[in-house]
Formats: sequence, C-alpha cells, structure tokens
Amino acid sequence: MKAATAYIQLENLVHNLNVVRTKAPNSRAWAAIKANGYGHGLLPVAKTLAAHADGFGVARLEEALALRANGIDTPILLLEGFYSAEDLPLLAEHQLHTAVHCIEQLDALERATLTTPLTVWLKVDSGMHRLGVRSEDVSHFIERLNACPNVAKPLHFMSHFGCADELENPVTNTQIAMFTAVTEGQGGECSLAASSGCFFWPDSHLDWVRPGISLYGVSSVSSLTGKELGLKPVMTMTSSLIAVRTAKKGEPVGYGARWVTDRDTNIGVVAIGYGDGYPRVAPDGTPVMVNGRSVPLVGRVSMDMLTIDLGPDAKDCVGDEVILWGEILPVEEIANHVGTIGYELVTNITSRVDLVYT
Ligand SMILES: *Cc1c(COP(=O)(O)O)cnc(C)c1O
Repeated sequence: MKAATAYIQLENLVHNLNVVRTKAPNSRAWAAIKANGYGHGLLPVAKTLAAHADGFGVARLEEALALRANGIDTPILLLEGFYSAEDLPLLAEHQLHTAVHCIEQLDALERATLTTPLTVWLKVDSGMHRLGVRSEDVSHFIERLNACPNVAKPLHFMSHFGCADELENPVTNTQIAMFTAVTEGQGGECSLAASSGCFFWPDSHLDWVRPGISLYGVSSVSSLTGKELGLKPVMTMTSSLIAVRTAKKGEPVGYGARWVTDRDTNIGVVAIGYGDGYPRVAPDGTPVMVNGRSVPLVGRVSMDMLTIDLGPDAKDCVGDEVILWGEILPVEEIANHVGTIGYELVTNITSRVDLVYT
C-alpha cells in the first residue's frame, strides 16, 4: 500500500504549454520551473519541456546550474538575477540570462571581469513595487548598462504584474502602459506576462511570456480551475487508507477534538499529513476523493495522517486509494477551502512524497 505519492503526468506539461501558446501565439515562452518545477521535480519537468519551450525561468542560480549539469542547453533566465557579485563568472560560463533590478547588481556588473558579456533583462518596476528599477531611474540604468562591456547588446526589458489575477483590476492596464512607455524605442526584447497575463491580458504578451503555474495545469486565478482554462493537471496527489474505524455519535476525532461526530459513522485514516505538505490548516469539510466519491476531511490534519468521514454506510477498505487533488479534484478547490492558492499546495509537497512519473 502506498503512502503519499504524487503521480506526475509529464505529457500534460506539453499540452499545457501548447494551450499557453495558442493564447500568446506571437510570443516566445520562458517556462517557469523554479522551486523544483513548482514541486513537480526540476529535471523531469525540464527534460520534458526542453524541446518545446524557448527557455526556462528559474529563481536561483543553483537551479540553473542543475539544469546545465544535466545537459539542458536552452536559454535560462534568472528571474531575479544574481544575488552576489561572485556568481557573475558562473553566469558567463553557463550563458545564463540575468535580470538586473537594482543598483547593487549594476555596480557589480560594471566591476566584474567576464570572459563573455551577459544577456541582461532590465527589470522595471511598473507598479508592483516588489523588485525593479523605478521609472524615473530607468534611463540612468539603460545608459550605464549600454556602456558596460559585460552586458550584451541590445538590452532586454521585463516587468511583473501585482494584480493580474484580478480580472477587473485596472492596475494591470496601468502597468502595461507604464512598461510600454519606458521601453518604447529601446530595441531589445520585452517580457511582462506570467500565466495570468498569458490568459487574460493579451496586451501584455509582447516578445516573451513567462508562464509558470499554468504549465502544471493549475489556474492562476482563484475563480477558475485549470480545467476551465483548457489545462490538464500534471500532479495527482494520492495516498491510502491505513484504517477504517467506527466512531459513535458524539465522539471527537483527532488533535484538539476539533471535530465531533453528529451520528454513528466510519472514519477513514489516510497516510498523508503536513509532513508531506498537506496543509495543517485545512478545515473540516475540505473534500477528499475515495472510491469515486467526495468525502469531507474531519478533524485536524496531523503530521503523518488525516481523517475523513466515510459515512455510516461506507464499504471502503484499508488499502483503498485516496486522492487529495488532481484531475478529478482540482487543487484550486482545495486551495479555496484552505485559504491559499494552488501554487502553494503543489510547491509545498515535501521530500517524503514519492514522485512517480507517468
Ligand atoms: C514565477 C514567475 C513567473 C511565473 O508566474 P506564474 O504565475 O506561475 O505563471 C513569471 N515571472 C516571474 C518574474 C516569476 O517570478
């Protein structure tokens, strides 16, 4: 019997990238595979998409180096750039594109001695105010980057949306206008859209899109599921029943006696918990699939187990498979119950979970 096991349907990655491409047909695509391929496994995801994506977006230098060490020779973009000046020779050696978002990175580039110039994406703060060069400083950065022999020409430009998952929020149009204004006439390529931009903000597609979560078949907006966007979930999170127990009316179940039975029933104990990345904060009523039907999670999630109410007439047996999320139970639905986003659930699965590729 299998404890927490995530089945990863790699071919769905290709389907999902193709869906993104039909949404943004004139753009090239950086496939975002940071954070261990959003929990799906960096290398299997990269190897599946290498022949299909135009490049990969990662957050950490270590992720980029792991790709290169495993023979991935497509372009790779460090979405937040390098963190230390000492890393610059590695960027040159492995031909990594880098974002430049702050003065410290610019200074480091000017001081470095590199064997080959780096491809730089100047990250502009178009209104999210997390990373990026403020609009009034952009021309100063452009001037210095263009004068810097360690920077390949032309310079490229990127920015990121803060509210693109809010389909009525006018801030996104303000960000598009701002980014377009500061990059106008600069030459070089431009990139603005992550998944929400790909699906909902066509004016943001520009030269390169940067889809992440949608590649894994998960919607970037909480009001829609991946399926409703034509996507196929890549991950199916499963485990097994390790006990089926009777519980009498009025008995509490689990830590803190959070949940109390209101009738005689059968409680299923499932071998998955927050030690596997299933969220401890999941409330009573969060759906779980057993033998083709949806049953509610009841009681607090433990480290290694969770409990579900199978109902008074349950025929379920020890060893039966349980689905926590996947094709028939959208991770977005679980996220809505838990008060988070699908991104966090798939990314948070721990190393104890067995990833099985199909
Ligand atoms: C993670 C990331 C993306 C991908 O975002 P999704 O919402 O997962 O599509 C795109 N751009 C940047 C800068 C990122 O950090």
